[in-house]
Amino acid sequence: MITAKTKICMVIGDPIGHSLSPQMHNAGLKTLGIDSELVFVACDVKIRDMSDFIKGVRAMGIAGVSATLPHKIEIMKYMDTVDETARKIGAVNTVVNDNGALKGYNTDWLGALIPLEKKTELKNKRVGLLGAGGAARAIIYGLKKKGSIITLFNRSLKNANTLAEEFACGACGLDSLEQVLDMDILINATSVGMNEDKSPIDKKFLNKDHIVFDIIYTPKETRLIKDAKEKGAQVILGYEMLLYQGAQQFRLYTGFDAPVEAMRKAILKNV
Ligand code: NAP
Repeated sequence: MITAKTKICMVIGDPIGHSLSPQMHNAGLKTLGIDSELVFVACDVKIRDMSDFIKGVRAMGIAGVSATLPHKIEIMKYMDTVDETARKIGAVNTVVNDNGALKGYNTDWLGALIPLEKKTELKNKRVGLLGAGGAARAIIYGLKKKGSIITLFNRSLKNANTLAEEFACGACGLDSLEQVLDMDILINATSVGMNEDKSPIDKKFLNKDHIVFDIIYTPKETRLIKDAKEKGAQVILGYEMLLYQGAQQFRLYTGFDAPVEAMRKAILKNV
């Protein structure tokens, strides 16, 4: 029951209609019986309106904000403090409003790391990471922390080199994808395959010894995941990242451990 005391959290993006964050977080709140204290909604916010949006957050006492594409870098400018991990990654996907003081966090890196660690130990594993955008930054941060050996593959070699220099890893263009054959883990952090039947890598570069993680979750099983399964590889679906980054956010917003299975169920019902 929503009352005059119910606080609001929201996810912002542009576009935002596809987001499963409201269903995921509201399922968690309901499971813990705190859905009258906090409700989670979504707002389509244009990047040019970020300054006004932040004024609104302060004026209305919005309790927490999740930021998705394209806001994760822009929103950092408006924080009173940014936690050290988010600063190192260079992006904020979670904002907590502590009595008017806005603190920015990044939970994406754990969202990727937790499902990977459920499959394998990451130390000294050779990882091919496709993409050099915001999501790739968070994933590299986590993998470096765990001692993985990372090679970036990206359409724009310039973007790959910039990231590779910052995080001390290898960088290649998409014409070197055959190198993935010798690697242990392949992660797609490009937007190729989102709502389309396309893979960022030819099936001939996949094999049964790979762990293949596609962070895209629409569709639930992307072309890359289907190809990897056909090759006998182990796979991790993109919704797992959404779930585990959301579980960390839930803790920051509520102070409670997230009821992960209830949140998973809510995602799977809607994905
Ligand atoms: P981003 O910052 O815009 O980066 C996009 C990346 O995709 C860049 O490396 C870009 O290469 C590459 N790319 C785009 N179009 C391409 C194409 N046609 N061929 C080859 N490469 C292409 O986006 P992001 O925030 O990193 O997000 C990437 C994807 O991950 C999105 O689909 C997003 O929905 C998904 N995601 C999922 C989760 C989750 O929780 N599961 C979390 C975050 C993001 P260039 O550098 O050459 O432009």
